[in-house]
Amino acid sequence: MKYDAVVVGAGPIGGCAAGIISKKGFKVLILEEHSDIGRPVQCAGLVTPRVFEYVDTKKTVLNSVQGANIYSPEGHRLRIDGKKTKAVVIDRAGFDKKIVMDAVDSGSEILLGSKVIDVKRKNDIKIKFLKHGNVNEVKCSLLIGADGVSSVVAKRFNFPPPEEVISGFESEMVNIDIDKKFIEIFVGKRAAPGFFSWVIPSDETCRVGLCSTDKPFYYFRRMFKNIVSKEILKNAKPISYIAGAVPFGVADKTYDDNVMIAGDAASQVKPTSGGGIFTGLVSAKHCGNAAVKALEKNDFSSKTLSEYQKLWYNEIGDELKNGMRMRKIFKKLSDSDFEKIFSILDDEEILDLISKHGDIDYPSNLAKILVKKPKMLKLIGPLVKALF
Ligand SMILES: Cc1cc2nc3c(=O)[nH]c(=O)nc-3n(C[C@H](O)[C@H](O)[C@H](O)COP(=O)(O)OP(=O)(O)OC[C@H]3O[C@@H](n4cnc5c(N)ncnc54)[C@H](O)[C@@H]3O)c2cc1C
Repeated sequence: MKYDAVVVGAGPIGGCAAGIISKKGFKVLILEEHSDIGRPVQCAGLVTPRVFEYVDTKKTVLNSVQGANIYSPEGHRLRIDGKKTKAVVIDRAGFDKKIVMDAVDSGSEILLGSKVIDVKRKNDIKIKFLKHGNVNEVKCSLLIGADGVSSVVAKRFNFPPPEEVISGFESEMVNIDIDKKFIEIFVGKRAAPGFFSWVIPSDETCRVGLCSTDKPFYYFRRMFKNIVSKEILKNAKPISYIAGAVPFGVADKTYDDNVMIAGDAASQVKPTSGGGIFTGLVSAKHCGNAAVKALEKNDFSSKTLSEYQKLWYNEIGDELKNGMRMRKIFKKLSDSDFEKIFSILDDEEILDLISKHGDIDYPSNLAKILVKKPKMLKLIGPLVKALF
């Protein structure tokens, strides 16, 4: 069987790209290794309402948040109040399902329980996948790898691996009494080395978890003993657990003859927050549009598909690059550096600036304002110099 395009992965990014292509009348197949879309969930589900400009998923919102309480290693709390909805918490499985079902409604075919095991290019693309223990084959003119952090497509076509991959662990929990309009964030070596831990209020539950550069499960358990977070979690009861990985880096090349990669497969994830849904959807839009153009021209050359790279990079490339710079500085900070930074930030004028300019999709706008503050420059200036 030959398709115009095959999309590997029925996540939000694959679903969004597939929908754009099948809406234009092209024959699209989505291959998904799991038998249920959106499961297992590997995400905290915190996004900005900007994602609804890309996918019709507003009904999956479970809660809206307007700010954050951020805790230093010693428990110094900064309260950031955006005073209006700054982010929403989504039913992540429902979110993925809606995007993929919209793609199917617009004509995409889908095969669930179909794990891609090999892809080869010889004039067109041949894809081998396992379904019910049998090896099947399909062909296509254009292959889109939206198969997540361990992308088979990226590996088979020798796209460079992510610069860094960190691991995460999270539990959906009940009996946590916090203000549902604020997320709780904890930083420092005892909370989550190299990243941060969180309590994100959903509707009836909270998502408690972290990503870290070291032993996430160990640090997850420590959240319940750590003096800073244990009070919030004292009555918490788990109802489910998830684990996952997050890739970071700015991919120089996300296209080749007959192939594009998008989303986590292309490390299109914000290095400051680990959020990949918004950045992935921006890229899915450009990937889908580039695929439509290539199919209309019947030209699947690397040169034609390079437009995809240009377009996504123009929109989010600088932000991802700045995010990588901020991440490098963040990883160098000691717990005592965090305490000093919290003292500098705990100032009415600065907290107002954070509330006004804080944006989890574009964190570098705020960072550029904050580093100009003389005290901050004095503290992190030497780190910046040492790194760049
Ligand atoms: C702990 C944790 C918390 C997170 N929290 C947030 C958050 O709050 N907000 C946010 O924006 N982002 C968050 N992320 C990141 C976010 O989950 C990803 O960036 C997002 O899922 C990327 O979407 P995707 O479609 O590229 O990949 P995925 O969602 O991973 O989808 C890839 C799909 O491909 C399928 N697949 C993989 N290999 C194959 C194969 N060989 N054959 C067939 N199918 C295959 C998979 O089963 C999957 O369905 C978090 C990540 C983790 C690990």
